[in-house]
Amino acid sequence: MFSYRHAFHAGNHADVLKHTTLIALMKYLTQKDTALTVIDTHAGAGLYRLDGDYTETSGEAKDGVFRLFLEPKVPAAAVKRAQPATKTVAPTDTLAPALQDYVDVLRALNPQFAETGNPAHLKIYPGSPFIEQQFLSGRDKLKLFELHPTDYKSLTGNIEQLGVGRQVSVAREDGFEALKTFLPPPARRAMVLCDPSYEMKSDYARVTACMADAIKRFATGTYVVWYPVIPRPEAHDLPRKLKTLAVKAGRSWLNAVLTVKSSKLTTDTEGEVVRPGLPASGMFVINPPHTLKAGLQAALPQMVALLGQDRNAGFTLDHGG
Ligand code: SAM
Repeated sequence: MFSYRHAFHAGNHADVLKHTTLIALMKYLTQKDTALTVIDTHAGAGLYRLDGDYTETSGEAKDGVFRLFLEPKVPAAAVKRAQPATKTVAPTDTLAPALQDYVDVLRALNPQFAETGNPAHLKIYPGSPFIEQQFLSGRDKLKLFELHPTDYKSLTGNIEQLGVGRQVSVAREDGFEALKTFLPPPARRAMVLCDPSYEMKSDYARVTACMADAIKRFATGTYVVWYPVIPRPEAHDLPRKLKTLAVKAGRSWLNAVLTVKSSKLTTDTEGEVVRPGLPASGMFVINPPHTLKAGLQAALPQMVALLGQDRNAGFTLDHGG
């Protein structure tokens, strides 16, 4: 169960989609005067070194966040195929506002990078807890859950350094179960991020059950689920099940999928089978703010242009309710 370490994946294309969406949500939801409770059921370590052993070994950030600072790589034809079709791709110095907000969060954590704009100075990558914390106002609360003993310890240490006191709590508990005890929240405003590693097949069913239970307890919360798009029936079914859940409960929903490459197996020069790694991922949001769709509509074509690795790169943005 505990072989997954997010440090290997920090700053990859899935994190760019997930964290850009998370920032757009946090930015909007923390504008209101009423307190917001943010619950992160699978928090990870909170901060990651982009020049650390884990991240360097996998090199996933090179094909993720670092590509935002390069010229678009994907053939224009692939961007045109992205669904739904949108305008031409802007160069990197005119990033869509949602992507610019993402870069600004990175700048806030990396003063040298903020000063020089040189991606070589981008050393620290924020996980979801640090992104959420950056947007909290004094009345809001952040509840973090992480089961892995090492990541829990890192998360606790990283959060302690912020000196934010009781506004942010960290618990080494099962996030799927813990969520129940916080819904409905005191001021009846909540955003929940559910971002498991899907290392265990049972995570897919647990996500659906957890979301169904959460909506029953508190129908108007904003529920955000990250999921991998991989050739596995449970992964394929997850957004469909979440959509059914939202529709049955009479709630609005949004589903954004970013594909960066083909999911097909290939062979190397020696005939060895090469697995493609994660080709695509999605963010499913129940009760999205009305601003989210437009924000992602502008950012997704740029993500395709900048992060896409072959002609299969593209995006979809569906919504309903
Ligand atoms: N949300 C983080 C971010 O965006 O930076 C990344 C989280 S990572 C994909 C998933 C994390 O969930 C891992 O650190 C893993 O140890 C932890 N985990 C796995 N099962 C869990 C559970 N049932 N409850 C809480 N945490 C769990």
